[in-house]
Amino acid sequence: MDLDIRISFSVILTLLAIALIICAVKSFKTHKKIGTAVALLDLAILPPLIGNLMIIGASIEVRALIGYYIFNIGMDIALMSLINFTNVYCRGIGDGSRQPTVMYILLGANLLQELINSLSGRAFDLEAVAVQGRDYFRLIPHFWQQLHRIVDYFVFFCVIIMFIIASARTSKLFREKYTVLLGVMLFVGVWQTFYVFSRTPVDRSMIGYGVFGLLVFYFSLFHRPMRLLDRILSGIVSNMKEAMFVHETTGRCIWANEQGLKLTGTDLKNIEKANERLTEIFGQKEYIKEGWSEERVLGRGENEKYYTIEHRPINDDRKNIAGSLLIIRDTTEERLEIKREIYNSTHDSLTGLYTRQYLYKCIDNRLKLDPDTEYSAIFIDVKDFKIVNDIFSTDFGDAALKAIAGWIAEDMNEKCVYGRLAGDTFGVFMPSEQFNADKARIERELSGFAVNYGGAQHHLVIHLGVYEVDERDIDVSVMFDRAHLALRTISDDYSNYIAYYDKKLRDKVLWEQRITADLREAIDTMQIRPYLQPIADREGKVAGAEALARWIHPEHGFMPPAMFIPVFEKNGMITEVDKHMWRCACKILKDWADKGKEGFISVNISPKDFYFIDVFSEIKGLVEEYGIDPVKLRIEITETVMMNDQDERMKILERFKAHGFIVEMDDFGSGYSSLNLLKEMPVDVLKIDMRFLSSSGDMERAKTIVKNIIRLSEELNIESLTEGVETQKQYSALSEMGCRLFQGYYFAKPMPREEFEKFAF
Ligand code: C2E
Ligand code: CA
Ligand code: CA
Repeated sequence: MDLDIRISFSVILTLLAIALIICAVKSFKTHKKIGTAVALLDLAILPPLIGNLMIIGASIEVRALIGYYIFNIGMDIALMSLINFTNVYCRGIGDGSRQPTVMYILLGANLLQELINSLSGRAFDLEAVAVQGRDYFRLIPHFWQQLHRIVDYFVFFCVIIMFIIASARTSKLFREKYTVLLGVMLFVGVWQTFYVFSRTPVDRSMIGYGVFGLLVFYFSLFHRPMRLLDRILSGIVSNMKEAMFVHETTGRCIWANEQGLKLTGTDLKNIEKANERLTEIFGQKEYIKEGWSEERVLGRGENEKYYTIEHRPINDDRKNIAGSLLIIRDTTEERLEIKREIYNSTHDSLTGLYTRQYLYKCIDNRLKLDPDTEYSAIFIDVKDFKIVNDIFSTDFGDAALKAIAGWIAEDMNEKCVYGRLAGDTFGVFMPSEQFNADKARIERELSGFAVNYGGAQHHLVIHLGVYEVDERDIDVSVMFDRAHLALRTISDDYSNYIAYYDKKLRDKVLWEQRITADLREAIDTMQIRPYLQPIADREGKVAGAEALARWIHPEHGFMPPAMFIPVFEKNGMITEVDKHMWRCACKILKDWADKGKEGFISVNISPKDFYFIDVFSEIKGLVEEYGIDPVKLRIEITETVMMNDQDERMKILERFKAHGFIVEMDDFGSGYSSLNLLKEMPVDVLKIDMRFLSSSGDMERAKTIVKNIIRLSEELNIESLTEGVETQKQYSALSEMGCRLFQGYYFAKPMPREEFEKFAF
């Protein structure tokens, strides 16, 4: 053997060994199962390699012997690692449980056998052959060595089978990953077999081992199946919603995805035609160099289609233009969806009219767009719609609302805007002139408004409140508030359907705002104060008084309660007035008690008070604060208090009674006057108002009623008090009927406290 070849071979093996070590280290660092398997295999290839190097370089037999030991044992270890690697590489990484244990046992036994027999000299002998003047130690195998080889070949054969199975099972795109390694293994196997059986000195197949180790490293950790990538990428592009075209630098179309072919009606064979079709559809375009994008609308009405087109030049590595990509997206569906969403958010789903917010916005625009036209805001409301809904059904309610929406939409033009404000209320904004011209017709239609439902006609009462817009900068919502205010003035007489927000209403609103603003100060400075109206007994002696509020306003002068109480009843401020009045009454009672004066004071309690405060605690607190006898502070409540939360209210009255207050039922005869209720009501005094009873004019009838009420109240053990007594005749008649207490102008009008004290004591 040539010395140079020997040296160069050694150099190659050494280099391969170094490369394998580097690969092994890198593989370990991946911290993957496959990485570990690769590292083990690459390291396991080293012993046979080293063994071989020793054999080649051995000048004395012992060295060659050691080299053969290392080689043989190294082969078993290498095969073990190969089995381990094959198991991971071919049978999947995740499945650790499927270890080929049999193989390991076989190889382990083989290794042990080799070790024992080699040491005892039963495995093989060495013979020196002279090659080119140098001794080379060749192996003469015995039985055990042959057995060792058989086992190794068997294992190797199994590995080959595993690779064949894996490559057959896998997709064509992945196959090269197996076939390349398989090919190399077979080649190396044959190569080494040649050396083993020809007994040629120097086993060159070791180079194949090393190369195999490097290939394993590459295929396991770095190889990317490009054909698979190609396939996946083109699959993605084909399935994209966008149409795509690739143009080369000349502007010629060379490829299009599925959508692109569909859009242009071409196929890949006639792809050059795609450009002609693109020009037909979108016009002449430049498909090289510059990037651009645009939005296009094609067709009209139902066939309207929206596209976004984007053109992107593609550069090669050196930044030269290599071609371009054209992406066309059909955005029609998205646009329609957006349109639908806008429609849904601006239109009421039931009636299809504008929603309130959108209506207000449109009105704002209308006012700006058309500054010269006088407009009216019209508030439309169905009377007792809740009852309609309850009696019939919500289906009928819906049908009714749709019918009204339909009626509103008739005779509207581009200057009118209208929508559904909420529930059963609608809003219309239209030129005043137009509305007034149509008013007679509208009233006629309203008087007979009916909805066909379930084969029958149902009449609906619809009211319109109109605000003729004279202040254009106020909020649209305020315009409709005013129209609504007008609507609320329509009485229930079924002859009037339209009401205007006029000067009277405006003044009323202004008045309400003004006195509401003044209230706090009026209370603090005693502008609001109690006037006392005497309450007399049968002998005409003053037994007590009712405290009635008066407002001595610094600007408006003396104000009777009718001027402010209803306003505060409506906006809830009445509670402030009442609490003030109760306190004043308590102060006076305390004063009287101090001066040893007899007499009670009745105070009024608005039904609203029960909503806003704990009336009992409030009044009890006052009585305790001023240290007065509760019997002196009489509580006047009206029947309306009982209209809501009856049980709860009863309990409150019981507490008043239990605490020693006297509870009076005010204005009996004015409201619902449920005698039934009276039986259960914890009241001490019934205040019968003459004015309600005599308003009919039939004095005889009034007398009969009063007589019966008094008798009834006596039976129920309730004392009766008649108020509104204006004449001596009334007084004596009521006395005869059994009435105990009297209040009225016949005795005295309400008067300031000082006057009352002179009058009574
Ligand atoms: P009311 O509680 O029924 O008070 C009796 C009203 O009848 C008083 O009117 C009184 O001046 C009037 N009156 C008394 N005798 C006669 C009579 O012989 N002939 C006629 N025509 N009228 C008579 P006023 O003071 O104007 O009070 C009106 C209503 O205002 C009261 O009716 C009461 O409901 C309410 N009110 C007055 N002050 C207060 C208050 O402090 N709080 C609350 N919540 N309401 C009050
Ligand atoms: Ca009263
Ligand atoms: Ca009264």
